[in-house]
Amino acid sequence: MPASPPEQQLAFQDACRKAGLRLTPQRLEIFRELAAAKDHPTAEILHQRLSWKMPSLSLDTVYRTLGTFASHGLINKVETVESQARFEVAQLLHHHLICQQCKEIIDFQWQFIDQAPLPDEVHAWGRVERRNLVAYGTCSKCLSEEK
Ligand SMILES: [Zn+2]
Ligand SMILES: [Zn+2]
Repeated sequence: MPASPPEQQLAFQDACRKAGLRLTPQRLEIFRELAAAKDHPTAEILHQRLSWKMPSLSLDTVYRTLGTFASHGLINKVETVESQARFEVAQLLHHHLICQQCKEIIDFQWQFIDQAPLPDEVHAWGRVERRNLVAYGTCSKCLSEEK
């Protein structure tokens, strides 16, 4: 179950403290906005959503803040083939479905993948810490528009 917002924020503040990151109001707002988003937004989209609340916030700051969060494991960069990176707050272990037409990214769970035994060559390679499967295709909304 996803953590409730206050819990999630406390966890974030705790993680910042451990990472030695200063918790500025800007950082907190950016995290809050991303945590509330369900659509894996880009830095540009987050910036647009925050600009009415924080008119002085620059796109560059949003970029740098997301980069800092991601490098400390506070958020995930979603692996896509698009040139613009998309982000999410890491919650439950999940995988992604990406529609190649409307670019919508949907979360899904697949315990089979999470628990599947790894091939010997992977064990020989080293230790796997995170598995993330990305499936590409066309969502049902786009499929129905094709008809
Ligand atoms: Zn679609
Ligand atoms: Zn996701």
